Amino acid sequence: MMITTTKLTSGWFTRFNTLLARLLTLSPESTLSAAIEKREIVPVYQPFFNSQTGTIAGIEVLARWNHPLYGPVSPDTFIPLAEKHRLIAPLTHHLIQQVIADLQHRIQLFPDRLYINLNLSVRNCLDPRFETDTLELLQKLASSQVQLVIEITERDPLHFTPQLSEWFATLRQANISLALDDFGTGCSNISYIHALDPEFIKIDKLFVSQISENGDTRLVDSLIELAKKMHLRIIAEGVETKAQADYLRLKDSDFLQGYYFGKPMKIDELVGKVNAC
Ligand code: C2E
Ligand code: CA
Ligand code: CA
Repeated sequence: MMITTTKLTSGWFTRFNTLLARLLTLSPESTLSAAIEKREIVPVYQPFFNSQTGTIAGIEVLARWNHPLYGPVSPDTFIPLAEKHRLIAPLTHHLIQQVIADLQHRIQLFPDRLYINLNLSVRNCLDPRFETDTLELLQKLASSQVQLVIEITERDPLHFTPQLSEWFATLRQANISLALDDFGTGCSNISYIHALDPEFIKIDKLFVSQISENGDTRLVDSLIELAKKMHLRIIAEGVETKAQADYLRLKDSDFLQGYYFGKPMKIDELVGKVNAC
C-alpha cells in the first residue's frame, strides 16, 4: 500500500514538473498562440444606449483571456502582444466566429438595427480573412437586423496608401461603418476624419472622467462641438456617474456607454438584462 502511494505521488510529481517545465520554456508568443487555438480568448459585450430614449442601441465586442493557470490577462497586455507577434489576425478570426455563434440564434432578442461594434487593430487592415469574417457575420445575423461598425483607434498610426483606402472602401460597400475610437487622445483626429470618413466618433473616457462637480469640461465640450460640426454621431465612453450621463445628454451626445449603464458581460447576462427592461 505504502509503495503504491509513493509510486502514485512520484508519478504525479513528475508529470506536474514536466508540465511546469514545458510551460516555463514556452514563449509568451506560443502561449498566446495556443490560447487562441484553444479558444481561451472569448468575447464579452458592453452595451451602449441611445441618450434620449434610453434604449439599447448597440453592443461593443471586447476580448477576454482567462488563462487557466495565470487567471485573467488584460486586453491591454495581450492585444499588443498579439499585434507584435502577428497573432492579431487569428485572434480576431476566432473572436468573430464566437460572436457569430453567440448571436446567431439570439439576435431576435435584441431590438432591430442593433449596432455591433468590433475593435480593429491597425494590423487587421488588409487582412482578407477579416473581410470574409465580417461578411459571414452579416450574412448569418441577417444583415437587415444589425449594423456592423468597425472601431479603429486613433492612438496607433495608420499609413494611408491607395491599397488601404480600397480596403476600407470594400468594407463600406458591404454597409460596414467606421467609428474613430479614443477620439481626442491622438494627434491626428482631423486627418483621420478626412481619410476614413467615419460615421461615429467615440469620445475617450479620459475626457468623460473630467465631467465632475468641479471638473473642467472644456475639452469634452470642444470635442462634442467638433464632432457636431463634422456631422458625426457621438458615442461617449467611460460614463461612470449619473452626473456625467446627464451632462452628456444635455450636450446632445447621441449614445452613452460605461459602467454606469453596464460593464462588459457574457452574452447570456446581456440577453437577460435586455429582456428584463
Ligand atoms: P477600448 O476599445 O477603448 O474599450 C474600452 C475599454 O474601457 C474597455 O477595456 C472597457 O472594458 C473599458 N470601460 C468601459 N466602460 C468603462 C467605464 O465606465 N470606466 C472605465 N474605467 N472603463 C470602462 P478593456 O475591455 O480592458 O479593453 C481595453 C482595450 O483593449 C480596448 O479599449 C481596445 O483598444 C482593446 N481591445 C479589447 N478587445 C479588443 C479586440 O477584440 N480587438 C482589438 N483590436 N482590440 C481590443
Ligand atoms: Ca473600442
Ligand atoms: Ca476607446
